Amino acid sequence: MVIVMRAHATPEELEAVKRRVEELGFRSHISTGSERTIIGVIGDERPVDPEVFEVVPGVERVVRILKPFRLASREFHPDDRVIELPGGARLGGGAVTVLAGPCAVESREQLEATAEVVSAAGVKVLRGGAFKPRTSPYSFQGLGEKGLILLREVADHHGMAVITEVVTPEDVPLVASYADILQIGARNMANYSLLQAAGAVSKPVLLKRGLGSTIDELIQAGEYILSNGNDQVALCERGIRTFETATRFTLDINAIPVLKGLTSLPVVVDPSHATGQATLVKPVALAGVAAGADGLIVEVHPNPAAALSDGPQSLTPPQFFDMMRDVRKVAEAVGRQVG
Ligand code: PEP
Ligand code: MN
Repeated sequence: MVIVMRAHATPEELEAVKRRVEELGFRSHISTGSERTIIGVIGDERPVDPEVFEVVPGVERVVRILKPFRLASREFHPDDRVIELPGGARLGGGAVTVLAGPCAVESREQLEATAEVVSAAGVKVLRGGAFKPRTSPYSFQGLGEKGLILLREVADHHGMAVITEVVTPEDVPLVASYADILQIGARNMANYSLLQAAGAVSKPVLLKRGLGSTIDELIQAGEYILSNGNDQVALCERGIRTFETATRFTLDINAIPVLKGLTSLPVVVDPSHATGQATLVKPVALAGVAAGADGLIVEVHPNPAAALSDGPQSLTPPQFFDMMRDVRKVAEAVGRQVG
């Protein structure tokens, strides 16, 4: 349940409600909105009568949330959550933010060439995998910590933030020490020990939807991170598995407005993995922006034919500039700006 405080409740009243929540064995989570403060009651509160909170001075009303997620919900956090990133980028809050770079970090030359291109196109967040969860154990698995070091150095050189994937709970502190955003991949969306570990750090997390996961399961996975103490979570629609074989996955365009309606979390679209084909990336990216996405995460490679992973879906530099030009046009047409 969430406890909605009166508009002019005093700090003492807020403190008293928080104490009451904790006396009853729950954790409290405070959200200070533009209009009023809302207290999330964390734990299994089903047996508790809302009246125990309604009688406390300063409380306006108590709302039971029947959905299995609370902190992620619009009821708990009516305003959009905004994640501020080093280098001036942000996720959420109206702008369209593009995160771009190679699927995997392969070498300093490859990463530097890509960063130069995406930075020249106005991108402020460099993506690149150092730990790659590949379908085949024989495929390139990433450079590991060496890849993280390269990402940090190249991004710093261009004044960019870094997003990179973490695949095990043990690696969370290491990846968090180099990256500005931790990426949790589709194959790990329901890895609950990884989600808990990501909840314990103070870096933003981009959580990608599992290939066969529902929107509800994605939000509940995000709730794991939020409920473990990290309130900087963004969700990513990256395509799901359907009967369609013409593309690698099928982008669930519906998920964008559905997630924006149910949750306050920023929503990012990945047109690269959703389609698996470079020629389809731009139209699907444009559709994502038109549908209300807060950001796009796009794979770019200076020479896709030589890429060690996801070459067929990686944009060449000219394709990326072309996509960015049209992303700006669509953003403007729907009253947004590329940030
Ligand atoms: C990636 O971003 O390179 C990646 C592996 O994505 P996903 O987890 O969505 O497959
Ligand atoms: Mn990839």
